[in-house]
Amino acid sequence: MKTLFHNCPSIIHDPPHVLEDIIHGHPVPPKHFRLDIDHDGVAWITFDTPKSSANVWNEETLREFNHLLEVIEHDTRVKALVLRSAKERIFVAGADIKAIRSMQPVRVNELIWLGQAVFDRLARLNKPKVAAIHGACMGGGFEVTLACDWRIASDHESTKIGLPETQLGILPAWGGSTRLPRIIGVRKALDLITSGKLLNASAAKRAGLISHVVAAERLEVLARRLVQGRRPEPIYRFENLFSAIIGRMAKRKVLEKTRGLYPSILKAVEVVTHAVHGEIEKGLLLERNAVAELIENRDSARLIDLFFKREEASKRAVTGGTALPLTDATVIGAGVMGAGIAHTLASRGVRVLMTDVSNDSLARGLERIHGLVSDATRRRLVTQVQGRDTLDRISTTHVKVPLSRHHLIIEAATENMELKKKIFGDLAARVSDDTILATNTSALSIAELAHSVPHPERVIGLHFFNPVHRMPLVEIITLPETSADVLATAVSFVQKIGKTPVVVKDSPGFLVNRILVPYLMEAVRLNQSGVPVKDIDDAMLEFGMPMGPMRLLDEIGLDVAAHVARTLATAFPDRFPNSDALDKMVSAGQLGKKSGQGFYRYEKGKEIAPARHADLPKHESIQTRLALLISQEAMRCLKEGIARNADDIDLAMVLGTGYPPFRGGPITFARDTGIIDY
Ligand code: NAD
Repeated sequence: MKTLFHNCPSIIHDPPHVLEDIIHGHPVPPKHFRLDIDHDGVAWITFDTPKSSANVWNEETLREFNHLLEVIEHDTRVKALVLRSAKERIFVAGADIKAIRSMQPVRVNELIWLGQAVFDRLARLNKPKVAAIHGACMGGGFEVTLACDWRIASDHESTKIGLPETQLGILPAWGGSTRLPRIIGVRKALDLITSGKLLNASAAKRAGLISHVVAAERLEVLARRLVQGRRPEPIYRFENLFSAIIGRMAKRKVLEKTRGLYPSILKAVEVVTHAVHGEIEKGLLLERNAVAELIENRDSARLIDLFFKREEASKRAVTGGTALPLTDATVIGAGVMGAGIAHTLASRGVRVLMTDVSNDSLARGLERIHGLVSDATRRRLVTQVQGRDTLDRISTTHVKVPLSRHHLIIEAATENMELKKKIFGDLAARVSDDTILATNTSALSIAELAHSVPHPERVIGLHFFNPVHRMPLVEIITLPETSADVLATAVSFVQKIGKTPVVVKDSPGFLVNRILVPYLMEAVRLNQSGVPVKDIDDAMLEFGMPMGPMRLLDEIGLDVAAHVARTLATAFPDRFPNSDALDKMVSAGQLGKKSGQGFYRYEKGKEIAPARHADLPKHESIQTRLALLISQEAMRCLKEGIARNADDIDLAMVLGTGYPPFRGGPITFARDTGIIDY
């Protein structure tokens, strides 16, 4: 019997026992695939896992796919192969991470071996083969296509292509790190693999990942035409001769960006730049060894856990209530947040009515939205048509219009309780009984606002973060009287617009700001006691924060930060002492970046740190002190029941503040390091 590994000496060498089973095991009738051989001799393999909206690679699907390849190898009628998916929005979502999470490292290594061998068999199949991609094609889903002669994709918005493995603390190890640089060149391959970004079809074509983009209905016609023609010659990538230099440059860039905190990204640079030369088998071996090393590290487990927490929060429905499907919303206020929210909603297909007090404010809001759309089109994140559709979904008014048929109002007007009460009172008189009134306040009491209107059970907090189009988190703030249907609708709406909801209780600072403020105020205190601004920021950058606390305060605006800090100091006077340091800076006109001076001075788009006079505490002790404060407050929120569980707190801090994901979140950090009794 011909084995899985013919012509593949290094993979034959000492295969794990799971592969022995496949070599000697009996073919199983496929559950996850269909094989159709048409009269032209084209074999169509359709990936279609029953009772699931997704296709993933695991031992079972790899095994079945392997047997289909064996059938095709021996069937002389077969002249060519097309690989496709029957799913509406997914080609192949990647490896079955859920299964991998619960596996021992030795089993993970076996699975890697298996995937490499099966995809290598596909690569060696001496017949023209094309992957017709429609929907998400990620990780192992994309790696299988790299073993084909052509990759073509539909222009559907669900088509997203990329290799996100490094974001999970591992790297593409089913041939992706070896084959991609040979196809598109080391530079572009490193860009895709180290960033883990997913590209839409047109961006994927520009990057060379696919050769054609067509409408979904045209994919099969094109696939058939291609496989009946000549197989493309492999393209020689001249730049690959210089992979060592390109690798060194990439490594320097990664170190600058991540301070060496993400070993998987550095490892990927190393593997890609070496795997591009010599036999494919050598590259596959490098991939296997790298993953074996990376999965020994807890970071990868934490990143995978976090991935699941986010997946779950982005999909999980609220029990006990009925979610009303919403297709339109009204946004009150066209400022930074109002315009940002209107843009995000419209880009996700929601029709938006945006209001403000004057035509001028609306014009400024619309200008902001136009800016966001043209930026996204320029960067090819959306097509011209998608950008135009987003703008078409937004209408504006500065006069009072009837709102009785509007189901969701999101208020994002100036942060002032009296003003918000007035707006809510006026809205309550104009909307119908089942309209949801949401506020985007950062720090005002939702309860106080809700009790100023006749139906407090229909009032909820929807706390978006700035900038709305980039920040994935929305805190949903509830009251004891919040209706179950209102909550279910809010959660499903936030999910529909592509954000991750975390449900929290109404309490000063809600969840994220409550945890952030003691940390920021402690940083201010350290600075007051003589620790230089830059040392504090560097210490937290080395911890993995995307921005140091002093820079963050400048970005937020010291006036806004002082206001939130005051709210918390009033609510928890014993733990959040009122610090007048920020107030003094605000009175002196130092509002942070927006005024050109805060903890840093801002000139010509650059921040300039004040001169350092002393080397005081070591970065490590600053880090421990500040990280401890974050974890402590997170634990308090957990004990007080501000969030539903520890996972939600970890997730909210990673998504809302950029808390280093490889540390898993402040509660996981506390537990893993033992800095607080958990
Ligand atoms: P902003 O000053 O940029 O915009 C406020 C807008 O509200 C202005 O255009 C103003 O004309 C408009 N407005 C005032 N009274 C109004 C009324 N009666 N009806 C309609 N519009 C009215 O403020 P922003 O930063 O967009 O903040 C808006 C809300 O979002 C605040 O509650 C704030 O606390 C909250 N928030 C802000 C941020 C942030 O980082 N900026 C983050 C999260 C939440």
